[in-house]
Amino acid sequence: MKFAIFGDIHANLEALHAVLADAQEQGCANYVCLGDVVGYGANPVECLEIVRSLGCPVVRGNHDEGASDNSSLEDLNPLAEHALRWTREQLNEDQTQWLRELKLVRQVRDFTIVHATLDSPGSWGYVTNRFDAMASFSYQFTQVCFYGHTHVPRLFEKEDSVRAARGSEVQLRRGVKYFINVGSVGQPRDGDPRASYAVFDSQNHFIQIRRLDYDMPTAQRKIREAGLPPLLAERLSLGK
Ligand code: ZN
Repeated sequence: MKFAIFGDIHANLEALHAVLADAQEQGCANYVCLGDVVGYGANPVECLEIVRSLGCPVVRGNHDEGASDNSSLEDLNPLAEHALRWTREQLNEDQTQWLRELKLVRQVRDFTIVHATLDSPGSWGYVTNRFDAMASFSYQFTQVCFYGHTHVPRLFEKEDSVRAARGSEVQLRRGVKYFINVGSVGQPRDGDPRASYAVFDSQNHFIQIRRLDYDMPTAQRKIREAGLPPLLAERLSLGK
């Protein structure tokens, strides 16, 4: 059984289309979304409706939360704040409620999904090194957990100790736990501007991070035309 695991879409419809088309070509029959469906990009409504129509497990990201509750946005960086205020105006009550009701952590079959961290999923900390990963591993009761939030694909393994592993493919080994960041569909930040997601072949215990070109100029033009900060369009080209 093949799962397409994707998140941090950030209202980038063109990137989402590319990922879903590739997932279909790869033979994925199951979809799993790691949150941050909205925020930053120009198509929050369209992306939300597509993800909702997949009927797949979805966990809540900090931007999903910021777009759907009435809390102050002042702690966020100005770009995120501007985009979330704009996003709130685009969503109807039904869409807002769908975001609000997303859970922070879910178990899907025999793996776990979370947006940010397992040790404190609603605090929105970032797992960027093996020490951060260690904290999450203490709360991970399945062999594999997928996460997002940093927009940087990463793989941590816990055997006797926790280490960061390189590469875009992993063959799961018995007795080893994995904490895997699948990267971002709509706003990658690892210097590679291509959309990122993972295909998990659960039968063959194999995970592959895939990178895809998409119609970026259209996504950028829409951001500018929506009156969102131009920097949000520019950063897509940089993958930062
Ligand atoms: Zn995000």
